[in-house]
Amino acid sequence: MSQGFNERLRAYPNLVNADLHCHSVWSDGVLTPQALVARAQAGGVELFALTDHDEVSGVAIAKDAAQALNLPFLAGVEVSVTWAGETVHIVGLGVDPQHEGLVEGLRRTRSGRDQRALDMSEQLAKVGILGAYEGAIKFAGNPSLLSRTHFARFLVESGVCRDVPDVFSRYLVQGKPGFVEQRWATLAQALQWIHDAGGLAVMAHPARYRISDLARDQLIEEFKQLGGEGIEVVCGSHTPYQYEQFARSALHYGLLASRGSDFHAPAESHIDLGALPPLPPKLRPVWSSEKLIGRVS
Ligand code: AMP
Ligand code: MN
Ligand code: MN
Ligand code: MN
Repeated sequence: MSQGFNERLRAYPNLVNADLHCHSVWSDGVLTPQALVARAQAGGVELFALTDHDEVSGVAIAKDAAQALNLPFLAGVEVSVTWAGETVHIVGLGVDPQHEGLVEGLRRTRSGRDQRALDMSEQLAKVGILGAYEGAIKFAGNPSLLSRTHFARFLVESGVCRDVPDVFSRYLVQGKPGFVEQRWATLAQALQWIHDAGGLAVMAHPARYRISDLARDQLIEEFKQLGGEGIEVVCGSHTPYQYEQFARSALHYGLLASRGSDFHAPAESHIDLGALPPLPPKLRPVWSSEKLIGRVS
């Protein structure tokens, strides 16, 4: 990366339009890594990271595409974790996508997805929705990448639900048809893989977890104790009130702040790449850390 850009990251990080969370066809996004990179640049993104769920296969493609457009890029991943019975997501930034421990850990994390999808399909059949597995796989391509999002798209396509949010209010969540409990990685494993692969760990969308405020504080505390470095403050699923709430958490726990749209699809994401507001003042952006600056390509 150019010396000038690195200097901006150090001196004026808050003026850099960083979008460090999004999904491609290598997980539950609908755009290719190349299309995402082009869209990010068109949307004004100046530092971009691809963070597919439990998968780094799209990273090399995105990196090449970003290089061709002179868009500063970070390799990333969003690891699915089970913590106290709840699914929690940890974003790894600046990881080496070829690191064996990371690749193997992610492979194991993904390995339950196909069976879970079959179980989800069986449950949906019991409430009269037939062919959900086949329907979802049409959207996913690869069985090991099958996610609830692909089922959601099938339920919209087949007219059962109005849109994806409608699906997640009536199906596929705890207590509703199509929900299947899944054991993902542990928090300690996710952090270990990310750190071993040379990356920084960021707690994704902390407001999204359906846990008590006390449990949320415990989660952040444990994440910090395990060496977690950052927390998403401004992201696609936070309200402006929550930007302020997690800005206080970042300061309180001494965590770096991150920003990411969590973009999945033009028709589904209400926040486009690069369109989020800047971080609240006084926070230290994760992209101003020397470790991450050294990983920008
Ligand atoms: P999975 O990893 O298969 O459990 O799927 C999780 C994915 O479902 C997330 O990454 C989101 O893309 C999507 N998702 C979960 N909850 C919602 C929601 N309430 N609205 C829209 N998408 C959601
Ligand atoms: Mn997703
Ligand atoms: Mn997530
Ligand atoms: Mn995400």
